[in-house]
Amino acid sequence: MGDPQPTDLEHFACALRRRGLSLNRGPCRALQINVGLLCDLACRHCHLEAGPGRTEVMSAATMAEVVAFARRGCFELVDITGGAPELVPGIANFLAQLSEVAPKLMLRSNLTALGGPQAEPLLQTCVSRRVALVVSFPALREAQVQSQRGAGVWEKSLAMLRRLNALGYGREGSDLELHLAVNPGGAFLPADQTATEKRYRRELLARWGIVFTRLFTLTNMPLGRFRRWLEQSGNDAAYLRALAQAFNAATLPGLMCREQLSVSWDGHVFDCDFHLAAGISLGETRTHVRDLPEPPAPGTPIAAADHCYACTAGAGFT
Ligand code: SF4
Repeated sequence: MGDPQPTDLEHFACALRRRGLSLNRGPCRALQINVGLLCDLACRHCHLEAGPGRTEVMSAATMAEVVAFARRGCFELVDITGGAPELVPGIANFLAQLSEVAPKLMLRSNLTALGGPQAEPLLQTCVSRRVALVVSFPALREAQVQSQRGAGVWEKSLAMLRRLNALGYGREGSDLELHLAVNPGGAFLPADQTATEKRYRRELLARWGIVFTRLFTLTNMPLGRFRRWLEQSGNDAAYLRALAQAFNAATLPGLMCREQLSVSWDGHVFDCDFHLAAGISLGETRTHVRDLPEPPAPGTPIAAADHCYACTAGAGFT
């Protein structure tokens, strides 16, 4: 898969070169693990085209290889994402094993898959291992959430946030972190993060009694299902141009790819989850985690692609 390519768009790599900039790794502190594309939802903004019809999930054998790599890599943080990680068989045990080799774990959830009796063992593991949760909650209006994510998502999401608060997640003084991930409803950049966090904090507490730790605004990636939506709605060229025009060199030192490595459900390594979605392998060749003795050294080049403009636009991708 490549990037949508308006003819007058300067390639991201050229934009860096023209400014005398480069994209290289720093110390590798985090391991992100994408455990599969299976999801109970099929959100419009998904850069991976995850959904209920996808069958790609991490096997028990690959999980064992990833745990072994996490041990070798001495990571400060292991970050689990999907699809919906909750639906992957053996996920609770996988988290428990990872918590033995990394001081901090993070689980990304769409909230809906975390509900119901099947997710209860995972939820209990998250509480007992103090796993930080990053949950998607893209808007404060039911109609907007459901147009992005599907019918019934709004009520299930609110119910799950209340349940997480009841377990201690997001409460002041608690070490159970609950972070909200908010992304725009269309082909535009996210609003200011600080102002958005204030608004969400005020409205969620006043209307539903819900509290959380922090909020992150995310830029929609021009990949996967969102890319198709951009093309079908005729917004692809304008969106890429808007991202390129908002290029901010100050975001480069803090880019997540500088400190993190991504592993796919079949055990291959990538600079980040977006390169994973675009099929851009780490380095020159496709490498399996079992064949990687250690994380890439500081100074290793990171592949530049045009979707990187989404990470360097405005305040950057947190
Ligand atoms: S998409 Fe973002 S995180 Fe990935 S390599 Fe490009 S700048 Fe880094």
